Amino acid sequence: MANNIQAIRGMHDVLPDQSPLWQYVEQILREVLGTYGYSEIRLPIVEKTELFKRSIGEVTDIVEKEMYTFEDRNGDSLSLRPEGTAGCLRACLEHGLLHNQVHRLWYYGSMYRHERPQKGRYRQFIQLGVETYGMSGPDIDAELIILMDRLWKKLGIRDKVRLQLNSLGTIEERLVYRAVLVDYFRGHLDQLDEDSLRRLETNPLRILDTKNPAMQALVANAPELMDYLGSDSLAHFKTLTAILDDLGISYEIATRLVRGLDYYSKTVFEWVTDELGSQGTVCAGGRYDSLVEQLGGKANFAVGFAMGIERLLALIEVSGHVPATRAVDVFMIRVGDAAEREGLRFAEAIRDQVHGLKLQVNCGGGSFKSQFKKADKSGADYALILGDDEVSRGELSLKSLRNDQGQQTLSQQQVIAFLQDYMPQSTQSN
Ligand code: ATP
Ligand code: MG
Repeated sequence: MANNIQAIRGMHDVLPDQSPLWQYVEQILREVLGTYGYSEIRLPIVEKTELFKRSIGEVTDIVEKEMYTFEDRNGDSLSLRPEGTAGCLRACLEHGLLHNQVHRLWYYGSMYRHERPQKGRYRQFIQLGVETYGMSGPDIDAELIILMDRLWKKLGIRDKVRLQLNSLGTIEERLVYRAVLVDYFRGHLDQLDEDSLRRLETNPLRILDTKNPAMQALVANAPELMDYLGSDSLAHFKTLTAILDDLGISYEIATRLVRGLDYYSKTVFEWVTDELGSQGTVCAGGRYDSLVEQLGGKANFAVGFAMGIERLLALIEVSGHVPATRAVDVFMIRVGDAAEREGLRFAEAIRDQVHGLKLQVNCGGGSFKSQFKKADKSGADYALILGDDEVSRGELSLKSLRNDQGQQTLSQQQVIAFLQDYMPQSTQSN
């Protein structure tokens, strides 16, 4: 017999015992984004490869070695999206959303990168992406950070993340700095690894982003981009930090934070944690004004960030702030033909009248004892028991599965009143 087929390495199933945590986080993300007036945009998972080459940059880890690229049946080169910024901007340009307008958008979904799978690094992973368009000032940069600060607080992990902040200046300022940096690295060629030697010609700033421990000292002593910024970039950065100071949001200025993507300018930031080993960046973003033109639009302004949801979940688990959730509040046991028919009808009446109650009805028959076992296993608070006797009397039995209060016999109307009373407290505990 053939072996069972397994999932692709680095691509994971979220099993039913894990999905409540996902749903809880997704609900909070939506809620917080809503309170700032952000709208959802839904985008395709596959785009033309050219889009990513033009936006992310040819000389980046993503485009050089991480993309899932394939030819479709027409011979077009397509790629699974490795990130969402490019597709989001593509969509907004395509639908004319950027003309004299401002937008605050978010999307949520899977991204694909052919990386070496390890804890916190997968080949399919979920990102929340937030992108804003049409706003040039540091106040919108600050708003994104403020929004995230609120999110960490809501999730109970504010003390687990730190904000690192830098400015990459303008393209012109980076060119000047680039020459200085290349000179510096040329003076230490013997300490550069193979990737960095290549990047010295193509994209020397990316050397600062190296994860090679052997190069950390060299990178730490490199000249700092902050010293080459012009007055406009410096003023932008200063206002941003002043807003954060005003709101009491602390940050570290990380002069070597360059981000892995080529399209950033001025503000860049990362939220990092020490709790997840080397995959410590939970959320990263910045300003990328130049990308709009790069993709064929009129000059415009853009700032955004992306958050890795698997890393966020891991952090919530480490912090212990995992909410208690349960799939079933009440489990209905039906024994006998009349009870089976009446049970289904009454279950619908309950669902009509008790908003939000998670009621699971036993299906597939079975003895009272075996159904009771299932009720217990379901994690429900209560079992509702319906036998043919109860049906003939128009009654049900209700039994707590959490304590030994014994069994009560109630009319259908009493059951509904009881469950209506139970519901608000159950919602609160969820
Ligand atoms: P890293 O430096 O960890 O490779 P990155 O700079 O490539 O991250 P971005 O492209 O900025 O990451 O993506 C934003 C966020 O998405 C990251 O901070 C991280 O939380 C998450 N992320 C990126 N790649 C992966 C991956 N392969 N698996 C899980 N999460 C990821
Ligand atoms: Mg990466």
